[in-house]
Amino acid sequence: MTYKLSDLGSDILSDIKTFCERDLRAQAAEADRTRQGVEELYEATGRMGLGVLFVPEANGGLDLTPEDRAAILEELAYCDAGVAVSYMANCLATVPLKMYAPDDLMDSCCRMMLEGKFGAFCLTEDQAGSDIDGILTRAEHIDGEYVVNGTKAFVTNGNAAGFYIVFAKTDNGLSAFCVDADTEGITAGEDERKLGIRNSRTCEVSFTDVKVPEDRLLGAEGEGKKVAASALDRARAFCAAAATGVARRSLDLAAARAEERILFGKPLAHLENVQIKLGEMREKIGAAGLSCVQALELIREGKDCRAASAYAKCLAADTAVFCADSALQIYGGCGYCEDYPVEKLFRDARIFRISEGANEVLLEMIGRGTDRPRA
Ligand SMILES: Cc1cc2nc3c(=O)[nH]c(=O)nc-3n(C[C@H](O)[C@H](O)[C@H](O)COP(=O)(O)OP(=O)(O)OC[C@H]3O[C@@H](n4cnc5c(N)ncnc54)[C@H](O)[C@@H]3O)c2cc1C
Repeated sequence: MTYKLSDLGSDILSDIKTFCERDLRAQAAEADRTRQGVEELYEATGRMGLGVLFVPEANGGLDLTPEDRAAILEELAYCDAGVAVSYMANCLATVPLKMYAPDDLMDSCCRMMLEGKFGAFCLTEDQAGSDIDGILTRAEHIDGEYVVNGTKAFVTNGNAAGFYIVFAKTDNGLSAFCVDADTEGITAGEDERKLGIRNSRTCEVSFTDVKVPEDRLLGAEGEGKKVAASALDRARAFCAAAATGVARRSLDLAAARAEERILFGKPLAHLENVQIKLGEMREKIGAAGLSCVQALELIREGKDCRAASAYAKCLAADTAVFCADSALQIYGGCGYCEDYPVEKLFRDARIFRISEGANEVLLEMIGRGTDRPRA
């Protein structure tokens, strides 16, 4: 881990590490295997105080730096990527509030997170993932309130949220709203049955004539793309940290296995091919970690982090996939079986190349210059 942490961040990280090793790892592995018990995981992480992770000090949170938050998230992902992704969504949900919401709204959403509920970010739709111009959800401005209709896809925490950040078309373009999850007309669907990160709940959320007060509009009407970008630009740095956690666990497991496994009369680790594979894993993890540090520093200094966060996310996602695949190969046939932890890491790692913007989309954005529109 390459982050410089505050004293408070170091203390919390040490507590989280102990909690992960002692309680969370086994419980999360079992919940992943059986696809049951996610609520209990959230109760345990909530009791551990993880709801505080993205709550600013001014709203009852702690004086944590972006590096502190990333290190905690990386440690959570080292233990279980699904749980880490659930808390990561709180970053996507709080950035727009911090930048565009009145204090009382920010306060009430932060209170929900401190009480163990999550925030959820509702941007994607069936026909609008990489291409958000295709969003069909509409918010009609009628008699001093907005009426929202539409269905959002792949909402992380869709079934565990206290509030949703919802993007909908208005007369002036895309707009963003903060909507309480218990508002009439909102229906969360069944949890998706996913390849990996099964300990994060993902589902469709439908809005049918949902009435949203005018003061729940975030930014001005038509500023939805700006609001979404502000959240994603920051959240991608934390996504990178979580992916790095998966990569680091893959390396640690592979290195230990290579020492223990005896082949041809010697530990597997004596084979040059295995040494090179472990070396490549270390090399890529080092680069991904430094890339995260750079993006987090820009976030801490309030500077433009768009490109740095995007390539940190791409690099860390590719690193997680490479390292989980390499660990599985070093484990051989056992790596392919549920009884060994690398099978889960292999499934979990894959999400990071898709979520918070597919790698191809982000690389295209970086390649053409982050502020230049697509031709
Ligand atoms: C587990 C999970 C959790 C998620 N959580 C959330 C959430 O909380 N909130 C939310 O709003 N969304 C969420 N998403 C949605 C996620 O952000 C989208 O899946 C992602 O942006 C890709 O969109 P898509 O699935 O529609 O793929 P498409 O847009 O159909 O793209 C398919 C593929 O085409 C390629 N591609 C697309 N555009 C380009 C391009 N311009 N250049 C080159 N290649 C391209 C990429 O390889 C991409 O993977 C989640 C998804 C998953 C699977």
